[in-house]
Amino acid sequence: MAERWFPCPARRAADMLCMSTTDRPMPHPAVPANQTRLLIIGAGPAGYTAAIYAARAALEPALVAGLQPGGQLMITTDVENYPGFAEVIQGPFLMEQMAAQAEHVGTRIVHDLVTRVDFSARPFTCWLDSGAVWLADAVVIATGAQARWLGLPAEQHLQGAGVSACATCDGFFYRGKRVAVVGGGNTAVEEALYLTHHASHVTLIHRRDALRAEHILQKRLFANPKVSLIWNTVVEDITASGTPATVDGVRLRDVSTGAESVLPVDGVFIAIGHTPTTALFIGQIAMDAEGYVQTVPGSTRTSVPGVFAAGDVQDKVFRQAVTAAGTGCMAALEAEKFLAAVAEAPALAAE
Ligand code: NAP
Repeated sequence: MAERWFPCPARRAADMLCMSTTDRPMPHPAVPANQTRLLIIGAGPAGYTAAIYAARAALEPALVAGLQPGGQLMITTDVENYPGFAEVIQGPFLMEQMAAQAEHVGTRIVHDLVTRVDFSARPFTCWLDSGAVWLADAVVIATGAQARWLGLPAEQHLQGAGVSACATCDGFFYRGKRVAVVGGGNTAVEEALYLTHHASHVTLIHRRDALRAEHILQKRLFANPKVSLIWNTVVEDITASGTPATVDGVRLRDVSTGAESVLPVDGVFIAIGHTPTTALFIGQIAMDAEGYVQTVPGSTRTSVPGVFAAGDVQDKVFRQAVTAAGTGCMAALEAEKFLAAVAEAPALAAE
């Protein structure tokens, strides 16, 4: 019997979605593919801002929110540096507002997780954990990054009570107090220097006898009278007291002598690096050695035309909610321009 295919709206979907009338089993998913002009992956400030701008540009975007909608701000308490709010707001409140705003202007929020993507041809294909498949003419990657932690139980239950991974966000709350910074890279040194504007004293604790931060940053750090360094030392635990419990010190171990000590501090900033959430895109898009998505300077364009990246997934320097939102806006504007150009010149679409 001759094989007959039902017509498929999307070019590449045919391979995978259309049914054959032969008895031969054909691959097909449980649900038909959803289609969108713009699929946004990630529900932090970058993703929601891209969604707000794209929806207002009539792109009818869909945003796949992932397992932890809201991103890093969901584990932040007081936010004082996001413009537009004269009073202190809570991180989760800010993200709820962004989600509501994105929905109000017409974004379809999909509560699911992207588990696989294929950016080798357009429309791009994204497979979701539920089994759903999305075909998108353009994609914005806004999956963010996660701060690395030492792995101490105290780090988790004292977040917002003396433990932080962002000096720019929380340094202000340590005016006149003693803080410790853990790490030896650019971030740790920058965080330590930033904290000297607020704290009475900053102690940098590093596990080796040399920093990996840039020389100029090291020079500034060593010259700052508010900073002292503890070398060859790891943090064994973070201690707390009071009701509710807040940080009162760190237990340290010298890795060369094994000697243990306690350093009294009011706050601990863990600055041992970030991990961008990009495992999903390996082999699909150009990334740097640390796994950050590479974008064209001054743009959110990636190595794949039609795929844009915004927020911490492509930013290892600023990492702020407001900069993530800014690049989210850029990604939506660039996606709109890309889709318009493709619509005007179908030949471009084939590239
Ligand atoms: P990083 O360069 O990877 O440094 C991480 C630091 O944390 C290292 O000193 C490392 O120690 C230490 N560390 C890692 N795991 C640890 C653990 N379990 N316990 C104790 N210490 C631990 O990370 P980063 O400083 O966040 O920088 C990431 C990238 O962004 C770098 O390429 C950096 O240059 C860049 N960056 C640039 C700027 C800027 O241009 N202004 C600002 C920030 C970051 P070891 O040294 O012993 O490995």
